[in-house]
Amino acid sequence: MTNPYWSDLVRRLAPYIPGEQPSGRELVKLNTNENPFGPSPRVLEAIAACAGDNLRLYPPPESDQLRAAIAGYHGVAVEQVFVGNGSDEVLAHSFQAFFTGREQELLFPDISYSFYPVYCGLYGIGYRQLPLAEDFSLRLGDYAVANGGIIFPNPNAPTAMAVPLADIEALLKANTQSVVVVDEAYVDFGAESAVALVDSYPNLLVVQTLSKSRSLAGLRVGFAIADKGLIEALERVKNSFNSYPLDQLAIAGAVAAFADEEYFQRTRKAIIANRESLCAELVQRGFAVLPSAANFVLARQPDWRGAELAAALRDRDIIVRHFNSPRIADYLRITIGSEQDQQRLVAALDQILA
Ligand code: PMP
Repeated sequence: MTNPYWSDLVRRLAPYIPGEQPSGRELVKLNTNENPFGPSPRVLEAIAACAGDNLRLYPPPESDQLRAAIAGYHGVAVEQVFVGNGSDEVLAHSFQAFFTGREQELLFPDISYSFYPVYCGLYGIGYRQLPLAEDFSLRLGDYAVANGGIIFPNPNAPTAMAVPLADIEALLKANTQSVVVVDEAYVDFGAESAVALVDSYPNLLVVQTLSKSRSLAGLRVGFAIADKGLIEALERVKNSFNSYPLDQLAIAGAVAAFADEEYFQRTRKAIIANRESLCAELVQRGFAVLPSAANFVLARQPDWRGAELAAALRDRDIIVRHFNSPRIADYLRITIGSEQDQQRLVAALDQILA
C-alpha cells in the first residue's frame, strides 16, 4: 500500500474514486452522468479542422478565444471568466485560492460531491459537513454562520435537487467575509444559474462544465464566472501550476459548442423529457425518486438494498452508481440515458422486481 519514498501528505491522501469507465463489452452506461447524445457535429468539425501542423505550437495560454465565447454567451466581461481542464481542475484551483489557510472551516453538505473532501485533504483545508434536511433538501440558512468558505452544487449531487436562486442571494447577503462557490455542473437541466448574481457579489464564484449539458466529458473543459478579483486569484494559481491546461483541440471544440445554441437546446430538452418519463416508470415500479433538476435521478426501491439492486442490474449489463455512504446506501444514482437505454433499464427492472 505505501512506499518508503512517499511523502506524509501522499500517505494520508484518500483520493476520489471516479465511476467505472468500462472497455470492451457493450453496456448500458448510466453511472457517470454523461450525455447520451454525442457532441454537436459542429464541435467535431471544429476539432477536425484544428488537428493540423499547428499542433506543434503551444496553445494560447489564457485560452482567450474560448474565454471571449463564454463571456459573450453569459453576458459578462472576459476578465470575469476562468477556464480549466474540466471543472474538477477549476474547483481544485478554487479550493487552493480561496479556502487554504483560513481560521474557520469550509462548509459543504454532508451528502454532496465526494471530490470536495478530497481537495481538502490535498490542500490541508479544515471542513465541516452540514446535514441536508430529512427530505434531502439543502437549507442554505444553516450556512450563515462563521466559516472559511462555502461550496455546494446546484443542483446538488448526488441528490439532483436544486435550491432557488433567492436562497443563494439571501446567503450572499448574510455571508460577505468568505468566498461562496456554486458548482453548477448540472444547472442546464433545470436549476437557476447564479451567474446573474456575480456582478452584485464580489465573493461569489460560479463553476460550470461542458461535460454534461454540452456532451464533452472527454474533452475536459470547465470554467468559472465571478468578479474579476476572484478570477485573478485563479489565474495566479493556474500560472503557478500549468500554463496550458487547455489544448488547442479543446479550445476549438469548446468555442464551437457555444456557437451551436440550437443543438444545445434540443439535446438539453430531450434529456429533460427522458428524465420525466424515467421518473414516471420508476414511480410505477414502487421507487421513491427525489425531485430531479439534473441529468440523473437518485431513487430507492423499498424492497431492495441499493448494492444488491445495482449488482442485479450489472448482471444484466446495465451500470448505475451506488454510494456506500450513510443515508443514501439504499439509493441508486441513475443517469438519464437515451430512450433506448431507458427501455433496457426498465425491462431489466421488470425482470428483477418480478
Ligand atoms: N461538479 C460536480 C457536482 C460533478 O458531479 C462533476 C462530475 N463528476 C464535476 C463537478 C466535474 O466535472 P468535470 O471535471 O467533468 O467538469
